[in-house]
Amino acid sequence: MTQVSDQMVVRNLIEKIRHRIREKLLSTTFLKTDRELLRSLDKLMETKKAVGLPETAFESPLYETTYEVDRFELFLSLYKRRQDRDMLVHLSNSRLEQKFVFKTYFDFSASYDGETMEISHMYMQRPFFAVQFPDSYNYGFLGNTIGHEFFHQFSPKRVNEFWQKNERYIESANCYTKFYDDICFDLSLYDSVTNGTKVREVCTKGSTDLGENMPDVEGARVAFETMRAELGEVALKERAIPEFHYTNEQMFFIAVAQLHCDKDLNNHQYLADEMLDEDPHASGNVRVNGIAMQMAEFADAFHCQPGDPMVTAEEEKCYLLPTD
Ligand SMILES: [Zn+2]
Repeated sequence: MTQVSDQMVVRNLIEKIRHRIREKLLSTTFLKTDRELLRSLDKLMETKKAVGLPETAFESPLYETTYEVDRFELFLSLYKRRQDRDMLVHLSNSRLEQKFVFKTYFDFSASYDGETMEISHMYMQRPFFAVQFPDSYNYGFLGNTIGHEFFHQFSPKRVNEFWQKNERYIESANCYTKFYDDICFDLSLYDSVTNGTKVREVCTKGSTDLGENMPDVEGARVAFETMRAELGEVALKERAIPEFHYTNEQMFFIAVAQLHCDKDLNNHQYLADEMLDEDPHASGNVRVNGIAMQMAEFADAFHCQPGDPMVTAEEEKCYLLPTD
């Protein structure tokens, strides 16, 4: 159950990440001398947040009985209802609807007088989150998602003309598009000619998924940077949990991957459909690998060498907010 203390931790995390993005905007080369910097900062600072669900949501006698059974499948279903910028639970009369009462996603919702970041109740449940989990895990799972949502504000469809026409911004968008276009997999897919399977190379659609891929990488980066500032360089190399051999920096990326863990990742037809459809999200494996490949911190954490699959040359890395 979501406690007020959990919500405080999450709210705090949002503010830390917001602060870090603010720092990045302040040192972004192409924003420096322009009033656009002020507009961008306003946009960032005005983002409202709604965390979890009001406590009254848990007072229903039906809540306890359906919750344990359904919480994992609920993670995949979407049901949202919004009022006064708060997460609302729709405690209706039918038990079937009761199944869908939890909003299960992060989302920015545009409204006439501002933007709201909503953080679902599910994000604050085990095994996804607990205050007692290592900070590095919480940064990788929740912090990364918060960063992602903030960066939607700066993704191609959300930015104004100044950004859209800015050379450095265009360069960054093109870089992300090309980078993801080049992520390809050999998949065994049904072949109607032979009625068997055939190995086919399938590549991600970088332009369709740009609005999600860019926030994926930028969000993970800012979450990692916030974690580094918080824990300190030394702690990154220390074990996240004494009994477990993964370090904090490794734990961060394990949590990033956990977010997209899906039983269908072994289903090649499913992956091909996900990669080629018009949905703005790439398939889960691409989302995880894309972040790892764009972040030098991943290679460092897992001791990868140049030429390894997850290592990308610096000139192929993409930066939305360049500081040079
Ligand atoms: Zn998104």
